[in-house]
Amino acid sequence: MDVASIASAYQGLKVAKDLLGAVFDAKVDAEAKPKVLEAMQKLGDAQDALFALREELFSLQEANNTLRQEVADSKFWQNKADQYELTKTAGEAVVYKFKGQPEHFACPSCFNTKAIHILQTNRTLSGKYRCTGCESEFPVEPQKKADPIRVDRGGTWP
Ligand SMILES: [Zn+2]
Repeated sequence: MDVASIASAYQGLKVAKDLLGAVFDAKVDAEAKPKVLEAMQKLGDAQDALFALREELFSLQEANNTLRQEVADSKFWQNKADQYELTKTAGEAVVYKFKGQPEHFACPSCFNTKAIHILQTNRTLSGKYRCTGCESEFPVEPQKKADPIRVDRGGTWP
């Protein structure tokens, strides 16, 4: 049963009730009056029940729409998430690695909140990469040794 059929059933009951009301107001013998009144009362109860049913149907449809949207969102995320796998990098960071190209890593903290943020290198000797979403840093590459020539140069010029 949908909203339209509930509405038409409600309308049908209203018409029947009005007809009975007209019968009641016309010349009806005393014996018939209580029966007409009882019938009108029952029609009124049926109207109330239909009204409540319509309200319930509305809220169920709303809940259904919300759930459909959630399922769609969930599938969308799952498709994205399936393109990554958890991995341990050369620098021993545990992050998500993209299975395709170009090769990149995604922040595991943001991943858990259903957001993909690609880690960007800090371009430092530490080998750390930074998440542009939560600003966390991860040792994606192993720590590099400083170039001894530059360090030994000190303040003197050749
Ligand atoms: Zn992050």
